[in-house]
Amino acid sequence: MSAERVSEHVQLEAKSPFELRVNLSIGVEESAVKNALKTGDIGFLHSFTTGSAVDGPGVRLVAWTAGCQWRCLYCHNPDTWNMINGMPVTLDQAIEELGKYRHGLKIMAGGLTLSGGEPLMQDRFAIRLLTAARAMGVHTAIETNGYLGDRLTDAEIEQIDLVLLGLKTTSARHRTLTGKDMEPTLEFARRLSRLRRKIWVRFVLVSGLTDDPKDIEQIAKFAAELDVVERVEVLPFHQLGRFKWDALGVNYTLGDVPAPSPEMAKRVCEQFRAVGLKAY
Ligand code: SF4
Repeated sequence: MSAERVSEHVQLEAKSPFELRVNLSIGVEESAVKNALKTGDIGFLHSFTTGSAVDGPGVRLVAWTAGCQWRCLYCHNPDTWNMINGMPVTLDQAIEELGKYRHGLKIMAGGLTLSGGEPLMQDRFAIRLLTAARAMGVHTAIETNGYLGDRLTDAEIEQIDLVLLGLKTTSARHRTLTGKDMEPTLEFARRLSRLRRKIWVRFVLVSGLTDDPKDIEQIAKFAAELDVVERVEVLPFHQLGRFKWDALGVNYTLGDVPAPSPEMAKRVCEQFRAVGLKAY
């Protein structure tokens, strides 16, 4: 089946990214998927959500992309790992959807955010959509783990007003936490710094996994030296995504991990502030 035929039947907007969505592209031919990835004519999206106040400045329209090559132990959207779980949406459809909100987004000092999953798994679609948003005068942001940053040219990076960059840990534990090495993410961050693109660092605080003061000190030092980090968001781990792991039949290892205490979150924020960063 062609990707366009499938997308005719799918509801584009979800109530929230916490809505479980699977197999929305099942039946799409492999050649159609490959072509979509090569050209960006079609993207695979978990959903659009509107009115977000936590995915960049102002009020945001968020396009949640499907596909991620990482396997973070604390991921709250594991249904976005596989591209096949996303719905095929043509670039034109996505731009049309964005067009409905463009004036409101500008009035509310917001914009478009691509999140996921990992948006750069679909780098052609992502950059074409962000470029279209920029052409409408809409602020653009991308939430990324940065691992595939080298898929973008410098000129393409210029189309992104803000990068919400997930930094997990600078220690060897990164591979255990995510399944991948940290260096490509750090290299992307350095490149953003050279290109003077704004970064908001997103740091998920998980008791016993990412709360080591020495490790946080290193992340804070690295972020401060970039000289383009506008803020650090310390995101306390929660169990809201657990039901998705259960529904997907994936082994969830953090069932007994409590949310970090307010004292711990405060201590971590202070560590970031100690090197001159704004942390919340
Ligand atoms: S990078 Fe994001 S989407 Fe991918 S596994 Fe980690 S938390 Fe989940």
